[in-house]
Amino acid sequence: RFITFEGGEGAGKSTQLKRLVARLEAEGRQVVATREPGGSPGAESIRELVLNGAADRWSPVTETLLMYAARRDHIERVIRPAIDRGAWVVCDRFADSTRAYQGAAGGTDPALIAALERFILEDVRPDLTLIFDFPPETGLARATARPGAEMRFESKVMAFHERLREGFLAIAQAEPERCAVIDADDTIEAVEAQVWSTVQARLAV
Ligand code: C5P
Repeated sequence: RFITFEGGEGAGKSTQLKRLVARLEAEGRQVVATREPGGSPGAESIRELVLNGAADRWSPVTETLLMYAARRDHIERVIRPAIDRGAWVVCDRFADSTRAYQGAAGGTDPALIAALERFILEDVRPDLTLIFDFPPETGLARATARPGAEMRFESKVMAFHERLREGFLAIAQAEPERCAVIDADDTIEAVEAQVWSTVQARLAV
């Protein structure tokens, strides 16, 4: 099984991911928790190339290609082997982040992103994608306040974050069988309850 967590900045994805992994393990599942951009040594190096430095270091198209190079390495070395041995993979961000960040918010042609998905992901597709929806104003304030935050320069522009949010919601609307929107504007416990009931209902845990 392959579950991905998606959404804008500061929506509490990482906290919720840890809690879901703990619950799945308590149910006796073998779980691999991972993240993007990154998740394998090569992909983590690419993460640094993308997230460090000036916001205009790469164009949106170049950034898309770097994200997909990282993703392919992560799939080959971590995700596919884990799925093949029967583990559950829970990943903080995946292909929908490229659609939303580099596509909806960054302006990369959706046709390029769709082609990359076809050739690079092949059959490695999430069974369930949880889209954490959260007002960007609150999310940005949270994300910038957190220690060691890897925030990008453009991340401070509110319009970018509005497009990002719309991008994620559009994905959820287009693929309702794969995606579920989580209302992340609530307490950690309330969000955790939504996540768990969604996983149980969709994946028959
Ligand atoms: O989710 P997380 O906080 O780890 O994401 C780190 C940063 O990576 C985000 O702030 C975002 O700016 C960036 N990112 C991106 N494009 C992606 C995925 C993440 O710009 N496709």
